Amino acid sequence: MQIYNTATRKKEEFVPRFEGKVSMYTCGPTVYHYAHIGNLRSYIMEDILEKYLRFTGYDVKRVMNITDVGHLTSDGDTGDDKMLKGAKREKKTVMEIAQFYTDAFFEDCKKLNIKRPDVVEPATQCIDEFIRVIESLIEKGFAYEAGGNIYFDTSKLEQYYIFNDFKEEDLAVGVREGVEEDSNKKNKADFVLWFTKSKFDDQELKWESPWGVGYPGWHIECSCISVKHLGEYLDIHCGGIDNAFPHHTNEIAQSEAYLGHKWCSYWFHILHLNTNSGKMSKSSGEFLTVSLLESKGYNPLVYRFFCLQSHYRKSLVFSYENLDNAVAAYNKLTAKIGTLLSAEQGEIDKAKYDELMKLFCEALDNDLNTSLAITALYDVLKADTTPATKIALIKEFDKVLGIGLIENAAKADDSGESDIPQEILDLAAQRAEARKAKNFALADELRAKITEMGYIIEETRQGTNIKKA
Ligand code: AMP
Ligand code: ZN
Repeated sequence: MQIYNTATRKKEEFVPRFEGKVSMYTCGPTVYHYAHIGNLRSYIMEDILEKYLRFTGYDVKRVMNITDVGHLTSDGDTGDDKMLKGAKREKKTVMEIAQFYTDAFFEDCKKLNIKRPDVVEPATQCIDEFIRVIESLIEKGFAYEAGGNIYFDTSKLEQYYIFNDFKEEDLAVGVREGVEEDSNKKNKADFVLWFTKSKFDDQELKWESPWGVGYPGWHIECSCISVKHLGEYLDIHCGGIDNAFPHHTNEIAQSEAYLGHKWCSYWFHILHLNTNSGKMSKSSGEFLTVSLLESKGYNPLVYRFFCLQSHYRKSLVFSYENLDNAVAAYNKLTAKIGTLLSAEQGEIDKAKYDELMKLFCEALDNDLNTSLAITALYDVLKADTTPATKIALIKEFDKVLGIGLIENAAKADDSGESDIPQEILDLAAQRAEARKAKNFALADELRAKITEMGYIIEETRQGTNIKKA
């Protein structure tokens, strides 16, 4: 498999350190609010990567942290504490909101068919680990104390900037306004490993440390949690592109200084989901969550399908119009699969199966090209072969794609209009006509008649649905 490695700026053959095994680390959510669908684009594409690696036979161990302490609104050492801000907003404790939004995150993941990583570790569970690594960094001369805080000394590295051929806007460090210079820093790029002089008087979570009562910086969390569960060598590290700098840059600095050797071989970054007006936000404009999409009648798996239609290394624009197009394509797809399921199956044609499977794997082997993988799915539907061959392939593809192709096709087939009496179908058609002509009184009358006859008519984003009551 070829993967684009952000650290080398090249597509490279993916070769894990130990044959047949992959260690994979993912930056988890900062649990101060719901995840927006942009965050979830990253987790969907990482899920596809994990599932495809497993599909090709690797034994994957995937670890994710939960950021419940230390993440400031600037992504660096300035701005407000995100968790504290969330707690104030909801008049709850930091740990209460951390638990609530961690659960909400995994609920969203479930709806989007995102597998839970093998290990999920909240940062607040690893404080001793962070202290131990920071102590070692001080001992090795990579960290210093100034004004009560512990800083990483970036001047001690041969190379600090790893990913810096990005465009300036890709490297923008979160919220920029109100950035104040920290005069304790020896070098501009130095960053905090441990805060004891909190500028947040009401900082709730603090721990004893050799440098006084305080709390960890965000970046040290990921280095420590990765090394704790995956050892000294990491095959692949994932995250959204905004994390490349400063977060991942700082992770590399700390981890390699601590370990004394190269740490992670491949860096997999997902480009952003944006709105027509720009950056996706949790605080301004429409806060786009999975629940919001559901409340508007969208199946979360259609959002997953929408994400798969584009390559992860291209930024993607979300609009309801784009999502509606995905709905239409998804419905056509599942309807076709529904027809296949109810057809005479025949035998599996092995040669054809292998030929079509090859197309799917070639697409994903080429830097996880999911849009080509979807094309391979259409190729299956168009192919001149038995329904049994097609269904077998679709079931396999969906182990990676995770868009409920068989389940939703079966549903589409069940709720298909075939077993609805013609009389009801005629009434429904008349009602649709009445609605089109904006004759809502007649439409309501027809709906009442349909209900009286024991059927339910539902309007969904996917169209009108008729069911037995
Ligand atoms: P956070 O909860 O802010 O720590 O972010 C969780 C994940 O979402 C990280 O991997 C981010 O890089 C990623 N992310 C943030 N915004 C977007 C976006 N608009 N599109 C895609 N991924 C994003
Ligand atoms: Zn991280």
